[in-house]
Parts: sequence; structure tokens; C-alpha cells
Amino acid sequence: MNDKSTNFVAKRQHIVHQLPAGLLKGDTRTELFGCRDTNRVYAISDGITLPFSNLSNPMKAMILERLLDDPKALEDLKGLSQEEAIEKYAFCVFGAADSEADFCREGVLGSGDNFICGNNCGCLSWESKSINVDGNRLTPREIEIVQLMSTDMPDKHISESLGISISTLNTHKAHIFEKFSVYSKTGVARKAIEQKIVQ
Ligand SMILES: [Zn+2]
Repeated sequence: MNDKSTNFVAKRQHIVHQLPAGLLKGDTRTELFGCRDTNRVYAISDGITLPFSNLSNPMKAMILERLLDDPKALEDLKGLSQEEAIEKYAFCVFGAADSEADFCREGVLGSGDNFICGNNCGCLSWESKSINVDGNRLTPREIEIVQLMSTDMPDKHISESLGISISTLNTHKAHIFEKFSVYSKTGVARKAIEQKIVQ
């Protein structure tokens, strides 16, 4: 195999690795993903996409179990029917179409996704929901700041729009740089996109 074809194979493997789980025929893992326009959830497995209502009962039960373990999520979703609450919870916690399957081949539920479901959703304070960068959990405030930093907004405007002082902003930024292992705003923005904190 010459260099060119080796590169091609490596590239192809890289692309396949980036595809949502379940997208290819024969990939029987199940990936959930949320539609931001409608807040509906879909499940993709073995190349077929189905609405959330078609998900098997054992899978729904596993999602419900996570929800029941999270008092804050339970409080936020208590006005909904059980079916609606399970779907909304799945939307917020498992909504990204990523390459790490939400249910493995054996049907076991994995950990939540890095998924910013929308602005002002209370789910960022749920214990079972976390947004991580390189495995480090970001606080809701840090997520807000990362999103603003990624828009290229000057620090003065960021601190004003959040109603905090520049020195408080600098403290947050120091924590963010540490969690991201970067030293610049550009570095934060790049990693935030790579790890789906900004979408
Ligand atoms: Zn949410």
C-alpha cells in the first residue's frame, strides 16, 4: 500500500469514527438526537431513524430511571405526562447526534452527551446533565462565558452583559483556560466547537 492509499484509509476511518452511532446499516447501537426546532427526539439504529415513541420500553425505562434519580430534573418536568417528561429529559441529556452511542449494542444506556439544548434551559443545573471539556465539568456560568468568548465579544462587554466585574470575569476565565488546557480565547473557541459546547 502506498502512502496515498494509507492516508485515504486513515481519513475514511476518521470520518466513520465521527459519524453518529447507529447511522450505518449494521451498526445496531442506538443513538438519540434532538431536533432543536421541535424539541422532539429521534432514535437512529441500523441506519434507520425512528421517532422517540418507537423506542423500546426497556430503553424508555432506563431513561426514566435516570430522570427519577435527579430531583432537580424531576421538579422541572413535573408538569408533563410521563411520556413527555421522558422525551424532554432525553432531549436535554442525550440530544446530540454524536459518535458515542447512547445505547450500546446490548441496549444499555451510556452517559449523557455534550449538548447545549437551547438558551435558558434549566437543564444545565440538573445533576445528571453535564457539559464537559476534556472530561472537566463546566459550571453553567462557565458555559455562558465560553459561548460569549467564542463570539469574539470584548471582555468589557461580556462582563457587562453578565452583570459581573472584570476581575470576576478574569477569575472565571482562569478556570476556563485551565479546564480547556489552552491559553487564549481562540484556543477556547476552537475547543468549544470541537467538543460541541458551542454549536
Ligand atoms: Zn435542556
